[in-house]
Amino acid sequence: MKLHGTMRVNGRGYLEIGGCDAVELASRFGTPLYVVDEQLFRENCRAYYRAFTERHGGQVIYAAKTLFTLAVSRLVEEEGLGLDVVSGGELYTAQEAGFPMSRVYFHGNNKSPQELRLALEWRVGRIVVDNLYELELLERLAGELHVRAGVILRLTPGVEAHTHEYVKTGQIDSKFGLVIENGQALEGIKRALASKHLVLHGLHCHIGSQVFELESYAHAVNVMMDFAALVHRETGWAPAELDMGGGLGIYYAAGDEPRPVEEYADVMMQALTERAVAHHLPVPRLLVEPGRSISGPAGTTLYTVGAIKDIPGVRKYVAVDGGMGDNPRLALYQARYEACLANRAGAAPEEVVSVAGKCCESGDMLIWDIRLPRAVPGDILAVSCTGAYNYTMSMNYNRLPRPAMVLAADGRADLIVERETYSDLLRNDLIPARLRRERRLNVASVR
Ligand SMILES: *Cc1c(COP(=O)(O)O)cnc(C)c1O
Repeated sequence: MKLHGTMRVNGRGYLEIGGCDAVELASRFGTPLYVVDEQLFRENCRAYYRAFTERHGGQVIYAAKTLFTLAVSRLVEEEGLGLDVVSGGELYTAQEAGFPMSRVYFHGNNKSPQELRLALEWRVGRIVVDNLYELELLERLAGELHVRAGVILRLTPGVEAHTHEYVKTGQIDSKFGLVIENGQALEGIKRALASKHLVLHGLHCHIGSQVFELESYAHAVNVMMDFAALVHRETGWAPAELDMGGGLGIYYAAGDEPRPVEEYADVMMQALTERAVAHHLPVPRLLVEPGRSISGPAGTTLYTVGAIKDIPGVRKYVAVDGGMGDNPRLALYQARYEACLANRAGAAPEEVVSVAGKCCESGDMLIWDIRLPRAVPGDILAVSCTGAYNYTMSMNYNRLPRPAMVLAADGRADLIVERETYSDLLRNDLIPARLRRERRLNVASVR
């Protein structure tokens, strides 16, 4: 397993994250356990801040959907980034954490009237409007609340990123955004400009996720700026902000070759400047919305090994005490991961095994065919790069309680998400009167 951030193998041969012994973390907090490397998370934020804000005067907006809790909100705020939220729930979390609402960008292809009202009442910095229906709805709600809302329009540039089908978002056949080609985008801009309660600041696109080719971004910038030139000829309006979304790919396993953030910033900025000059347009402020490339490598999940099933000549399954409930990415995207045995982190691999979860699904796998030292029940398995789209996608399938999360730094580990309990699982369950029995009977029947 490639070591990320503050990871190292300590004197006992155990994996260490943020100066904390992973085996001790597992025994102190239980498994499965999400461990966030605070220093790496912050360093990733800083790399973006330096590359986009300090070098090019741009704005970095962290995508909350990848990893977000009250404590994570504090980190993002302290590092000076903006925040991309896509739901009332994420917005509420940011508000409760005290995140400055002026730095919040509200996304989503079907925001409800209630969500939009919240965003307007709390004065979020920008609402990224996805479609003509939303434009109309927002205009009405802003009118009712007597506020003017800063908006950006999300467009579909027709650029295909080379990535998994389910995380592509820039192609024309997408549920997101106003299509440039068929005139919808221009129509949206005209309506936004004519609106009394909306202030149109710029344009947005997001071509996909886990993207390695920076050329895709330069191409998308060109398409957006060519369109901006057309809009300028038609309306006299030019975007002050160009939001290019997120998507920079990260290292999960051998074969992944991520590009440096600085290069990513420079490639886009160069395309942006050239195209703006060519079209005699002012250079808009460049906005980016990184998620995975900030949170992904900063997360590691610790599991305890249990049952091991060897089918000679076929496959050896090593089952752990979590799985698709805490990490559904293999099931969803055929995602690949690396892992090591945290209690024998320095040991050489001895065999090829596949890591299975404990859910009642054959598809509940974490890793196919990984080389590991010979695992035995009780070993602690660490899966790296689980910071993004793991906790935020976790679920209670099979009524498995969701794991706890700790923030590790300088030898300290602080609990930032408590482990769910069995009683948490019943929090929303109700028994209608006609099915109620004496509690006593119920307990007896369990015994
Ligand atoms: C998912 C998403 C992001 C973040 O993508 P990453 O690949 O995690 O960087 C940013 N912006 C929008 C609109 C998104 O949908």
